[in-house]
Amino acid sequence: MKIEEVKSTTKSQRISAHSHVKGLGLDAEQKAIRNACGLVGQEQAREAAGIIVELIRQKKMAGRAVLLAGPPGTGKTALALAIAQELGSRVPFCPMVGSEVYSAEIKKTEVLMENFRRAIGLRIKEVKEVYEGEVTEITPTETENNYGGYGKTVSHVVIGLRTVKGAKQLKLDPSIHETLQKEKVEIGDVIYIEANSGAVKRQGRCDAYATEYDLETEEYVPLPKGDVHKKKEVVQDVTLHDLDVANARPQGGQDILSIMGSLIKPKKTEITDKLRREINKVVNKYIDQGVAELVPGVLFVDEVHMLDIECFTYLHRALESPLAPIVIFATNRGRCLIRGTEILSPHGMPLDLIDRIMIIRTLPYGMEEMIEILRIRAKVEHIDVSDESLQTLAEIGNVSTLRYAVQLMTPANILARINGKDQIEKEEIDEVRDVFLDAKSSALLLKQEDAKYMK
Ligand code: ATP
Repeated sequence: MKIEEVKSTTKSQRISAHSHVKGLGLDAEQKAIRNACGLVGQEQAREAAGIIVELIRQKKMAGRAVLLAGPPGTGKTALALAIAQELGSRVPFCPMVGSEVYSAEIKKTEVLMENFRRAIGLRIKEVKEVYEGEVTEITPTETENNYGGYGKTVSHVVIGLRTVKGAKQLKLDPSIHETLQKEKVEIGDVIYIEANSGAVKRQGRCDAYATEYDLETEEYVPLPKGDVHKKKEVVQDVTLHDLDVANARPQGGQDILSIMGSLIKPKKTEITDKLRREINKVVNKYIDQGVAELVPGVLFVDEVHMLDIECFTYLHRALESPLAPIVIFATNRGRCLIRGTEILSPHGMPLDLIDRIMIIRTLPYGMEEMIEILRIRAKVEHIDVSDESLQTLAEIGNVSTLRYAVQLMTPANILARINGKDQIEKEEIDEVRDVFLDAKSSALLLKQEDAKYMK
């Protein structure tokens, strides 16, 4: 059985603005390097985040959470993502906004639980019995077509393998030829021929049937059914949410999610608490057996002040669960009402939750830092910006937010193209900032022209 690459349902689009962030950029002494791993400045917060990473690694964060507090556009999401990346490249990162819980169709706690499970990864390992070797020849062999003698057909593929034990020749079913071509296997590549007998027939194609050519007896000895792989240990990363979805709507294929999608019976058509409990049970069993490994990820809840008391109560409890991700909250609010109550509290969060939280402050950027960040973003988006334009963009970021300045780059680039230029110049920046208002100017305009708007 071949394990197909399965796209996770993680909300990738929201992280794309932070694709340049690769980690916290700390040195061996855990001190922030001014410009490293895609991050610039914000040194204190990065170093604090480094300590959090250490606590997580030492498993000392159970039941606790992090709060990033600071003005808009100070890199809170970027920092949270960097923490997730420091924990490992395949650690799930699930960003959400507090207001997401208010939907007409789904219960608030359901939205929270779904996101919780998107942030918990499961690494499923499969150790395969494989033949490893360097490809020395690939020869499709032909036989006469019996049907009226029209041409010849490929009957099997002989591939020569130089394995650890010596030279081998494998005679394979023609269907393997497709795989060899698809995987672009060439002479000199190291490949693995799977030799498991429990291979499953997949729809539309038969698994390869391999025969081993014994150089001494000059005979072909049949091998169990197998497949060609370039990888030896097959590792599949899924999230608990992926498993919930797969089990609620079973597909019946042979990829790992479909198989994991029949973990439990009877099959349900919607994700219920019961279904989740059953999945947890099976997952725990797999973990105990060493088949799967739990990879707690990061759940990032931006604008946490938008959550209400019911959500906070739920989250508080969920944090204590053994299957909990690292939760990082973010807010730009100081003291405000806890939604759903008349209680004023720091960041609009209940005090008992604040008690369990480690707070990291993020500070506004200076001009130089903004220019460096804008330059990094321009590079990853393949946008050419003149130095003067970068300076102007940074000035704009200074009076509004960095995010607004970053966002102006794409339309300015389109405008530059229309104007027949390869590089964004100040002229384009001035034009797009007139067209697209930032939040502050928009609010000011509304206030000034109050009388003209409907109430
Ligand atoms: P916040 O949540 O604080 O509003 P954010 O992380 O969601 O902030 P912005 O701060 O608006 O995002 O950042 C705008 C852009 O600048 C993003 O692409 C972000 O990745 C990038 N950015 C922010 N801070 C840094 C930093 N210190 N180093 C590099 N890039 C940064």
